[in-house]
Amino acid sequence: MSTPHIVIAGGGYVGMYTALGLQKRLQRGDARITVIDPRSAMTYQPFLPEAAAGSLEPRHVVVPLRKTLDGCEVITARITAIDHAARTIRVEPLAGGPYDLGYDELVVAVGSVARTLPIPGLAEHGMGFKQIEEAISLRNHVLDRLDVAASVQDSATRGKALTFVFVGGGYAGVEALAEIEDMARFATRYYETISEADLRFVLVEAANRILPEVGPDLGRYTVDRLTERGIEVRLNTRLVSCVDRNVVLSDGDTFEADTIVWTAGVKANPVLAASDLPLDDKGRVRTLPTLQVQGVDSAWSAGDNAAVPDLTAAPGQFCSPSAQHAVRQAKVLADNMVRSLRGEPLEEYKHKHVGSVASLGLYKGVAQVYGVKLRGYPAWFMHRTYHMSRMPTFNKKVRVVLDWTLALFFRRDVVSLGSLQHPKDDFRRAAA
Ligand SMILES: Cc1cc2nc3c(=O)[nH]c(=O)nc-3n(C[C@H](O)[C@H](O)[C@H](O)COP(=O)(O)OP(=O)(O)OC[C@H]3O[C@@H](n4cnc5c(N)ncnc54)[C@H](O)[C@@H]3O)c2cc1C
Repeated sequence: MSTPHIVIAGGGYVGMYTALGLQKRLQRGDARITVIDPRSAMTYQPFLPEAAAGSLEPRHVVVPLRKTLDGCEVITARITAIDHAARTIRVEPLAGGPYDLGYDELVVAVGSVARTLPIPGLAEHGMGFKQIEEAISLRNHVLDRLDVAASVQDSATRGKALTFVFVGGGYAGVEALAEIEDMARFATRYYETISEADLRFVLVEAANRILPEVGPDLGRYTVDRLTERGIEVRLNTRLVSCVDRNVVLSDGDTFEADTIVWTAGVKANPVLAASDLPLDDKGRVRTLPTLQVQGVDSAWSAGDNAAVPDLTAAPGQFCSPSAQHAVRQAKVLADNMVRSLRGEPLEEYKHKHVGSVASLGLYKGVAQVYGVKLRGYPAWFMHRTYHMSRMPTFNKKVRVVLDWTLALFFRRDVVSLGSLQHPKDDFRRAAA
């Protein structure tokens, strides 16, 4: 029998951990493993808010796939279609034309994308917060806005520069807002003409609560803490429009803001629509509890792009899109794949969500883990230790701890590198 070719579509949590599991369990020659992702590194997303706030060096929260997966082939390309009946995927590399790649076994792990709405102005002026470049860009943009505000004479331009809107009160949005606000308020000490009170941070949430992941009590606690810090928390409110950065809210309020961050949830990667795999009404790949794709052979899926039955909940419930599930599912997926290649019986994925931890800026946080609720410093400390323990590779763990240790001795670095968004401007001027 020829060596089976395993293709892993996506090199995020599920993709990278599945590849690591297979690499560990299979001997060279048992299978050929190919990982395909348009990015050359896996991003540890829970650390994005700290990377945006400058508490962590952005390079330390990403894990290079080629270095980590030395037993696999890594292709840096986007998958644009899956024809599972023909066992081929369409691959579009960064340069050159697209081509079809054959496989014997497929792992679908392309994750999720921002769940946006057709709000006028959002596509042009909103920014997401899911990728490392977005975290770096948001940090540079916010510090750049302080520079703008400190240098203009027109009060309307200044007010617009100092107004920051975050839409969506899940943990990604709240953590991003809280960390960025902490950093921006700290940075104002270096600006003679900007005081902390000049900054306006607005959190817009359509539901009547934020942080559903930590429960209603801690959600209310978080609203109170953010409000104490001067952040406007607008519950039961939607963003209606942001044409020309003129923000219109459903409660009738209108104001101008240079910064509009969209963190209102995720949806399964739309590329799955270009496949012949069975999808549910949310566009996720339907799987069995063994993480095999329903109704077909040789296809597996897990993570944000999969509807995995939650065996710890009532029938018909699915696992939530979280790193907690993604990492554990990847382990079971890799084990089951090896069992399947060896003709052994498969295991079902069963994990009860243990809770969530969220950072609200330096030394502040909320956590609900195994029903235990923590607030303030203990929650923040738990957030850091938990995520440090989960950070892939020893190398990155050490770098993250060194970043935090350095931050104990030196003040936050608030250098504004807004010019990074336009790296060719100077050269173009010189060449002209
Ligand atoms: C800011 C933020 C904070 C978070 N904090 C937490 C937390 O504290 N706790 C928690 O449990 N979860 C957290 N999450 C959620 C968690 O990160 C996700 O649930 C997890 O990443 C899902 O893993 P995945 O492998 O399904 O997707 P991902 O890790 O997103 O991986 C998907 C991969 O597929 C690749 N890809 C996309 N399209 C294609 C394509 N067409 N072809 C090939 N590859 C493609 C992507 O580049 C990516 O590498 C957070 C998320 C964010 C954004």
